[in-house]
Amino acid sequence: MKRLLITIDGPSGAGKTTVSRILADRLGYRYIDTGALYRGVALAAISSGLNPDDDNGLEKLCNTLKISFVLDKKGLRLMLNDSDITDQIRTPEITMFASAVSARPVVRRFLLNLQRDLGKEKGVVFEGRDMGTVVFPGADVKFFLDASPKIRAKRRYKELKSINPQPLEAVERDMDRRDKNDSTRDLAPLKPAEDAIRIDSTNLSIKIVVERMATIIGTLA
Ligand code: C5P
Repeated sequence: MKRLLITIDGPSGAGKTTVSRILADRLGYRYIDTGALYRGVALAAISSGLNPDDDNGLEKLCNTLKISFVLDKKGLRLMLNDSDITDQIRTPEITMFASAVSARPVVRRFLLNLQRDLGKEKGVVFEGRDMGTVVFPGADVKFFLDASPKIRAKRRYKELKSINPQPLEAVERDMDRRDKNDSTRDLAPLKPAEDAIRIDSTNLSIKIVVERMATIIGTLA
């Protein structure tokens, strides 16, 4: 069977991470969570005391950063200059900082190259915001996964409960700000690629979303 490069874009809480993981597993593909890369840059910038709009500082920082994914017993881990930072990047502070630095051209340029390198070998599912529009415009299959803001906030609230519990109102407020930041920025805003297959998961289970995607992929592979 032909190995493909699959992209899944969409806002936070649409179900991208769960769906991408299951789909990649089922296909025997690698899975890349590109949001984690932006979170990694955010963590490094905060640790260096940078403001999210300090382009010179961010550029210098990016020139020294080594970010990679490593698969170990605990699953896919995010490494920053050889330290495992997977468990540090899901705080509300990092979430908002990642959204802010993701609007800076210098950061997007740095991660664009890194992501394209990771996509050199096919048989991979990339999850993010601009995978199908900017990073891999020639991807074999592109999905745009969305859901109503209320449902997305509820899902995110549940997801955070075990890692970093937040009141539902705080989750809704942060999500709303992030949606605005991500979809109105000049560079690589969150939007479906023209040739993306759009799926609204508001009333769909994860299982059904994965089934739909697998059927579509099956007709192409
Ligand atoms: O997906 P996740 O919520 O972990 O992403 C964190 C932030 O990284 C997003 O709010 C967005 O601003 C940014 N991001 C991006 N482009 C991507 C993936 C994430 O701008 N491809």
